[in-house]
Amino acid sequence: MSKKFASRNDLKDKQVSFVNIAKDCYAYTAQGDPNSGVIIGKKGIMVIEAQATPRIAKDVIRQIRTVSKLPITHLVLTHYHAVRVLGASEYNAKQIICSSKTLEMIEERGSQDWLSEFQRFPRLFKGHESITGLTFPTHIFDKRMDVDLGDKEVQLIAVGEGHTRGDIIVWEPESKVMFSGDLVENKATPYCGDAQLAKWPKTLIKLLKMKPEALVTGRGDAITNGKKTLEVIQSTKEFVEQLYIEAQKCVRNKYSLKQCYDHIMKKMKPKYGDWVIFDHCMCFNVKRAYDEANGIRHPKIWTEEIDLQMWKLLNAKN
Ligand SMILES: [Zn+2]
Repeated sequence: MSKKFASRNDLKDKQVSFVNIAKDCYAYTAQGDPNSGVIIGKKGIMVIEAQATPRIAKDVIRQIRTVSKLPITHLVLTHYHAVRVLGASEYNAKQIICSSKTLEMIEERGSQDWLSEFQRFPRLFKGHESITGLTFPTHIFDKRMDVDLGDKEVQLIAVGEGHTRGDIIVWEPESKVMFSGDLVENKATPYCGDAQLAKWPKTLIKLLKMKPEALVTGRGDAITNGKKTLEVIQSTKEFVEQLYIEAQKCVRNKYSLKQCYDHIMKKMKPKYGDWVIFDHCMCFNVKRAYDEANGIRHPKIWTEEIDLQMWKLLNAKN
């Protein structure tokens, strides 16, 4: 029997954790489902990543209310993916912030991405009928923006391209806490369908140099040990490097896309097959790596139709 498309078969709810990872900093994690971060200042609260729907955002807010009654003043989007942003309306934040390149991506491909992500992984869009529309920022920046939360200043940094071309991280310098978005994953497969694979490792080297004491990745458990944060960033770096190097080899050897997929699965599944959403991601990851190795700088836009065609082609029996 052929594999069910992407994660349509994944229906089992995950256990949510809301944990204090440093002074005034919290992580909302869910066993490999998309994470959110929270920083509480004297003047207000910053939430990092909106979640996929207002209904899921409600649960993030419910957790926040167990530790603070202050208003949620800032909502930060680390990049444009639907599963991270479409719950935004629920927070009523005065400022919704992302990079200028993320805004470009929302305008260019936000609608297609919404439909495509919903088709790939319906469970993550619980309460999808509550989505009010595409999320747009109220504030954007190019390189860096500092946000004053009263007793602490939080840095939003466009540290470099990788998972998308608009990625930013959130850095709380006092406790050295990093919220990396999908630039880093913890035992979850990095999604590379919109990636800049040649640049991604260089961006991760910058994150390593910052030596975070605590880290909230895009997916997976939060980390509160300085040594472990570096290991996790390093493991993401090794994954994206290997994916791109193998794709470059395949292009040099004039492999078809399907041959490239089979080659990379053989190489990478033994090491990474147990990372969350591995099978889901690899078809999109290999296609993007193959395209980039062929000189396509700007990732192609995924649509519901293209997703299905790709899945059928790459998962066909040889
Ligand atoms: Zn993403």
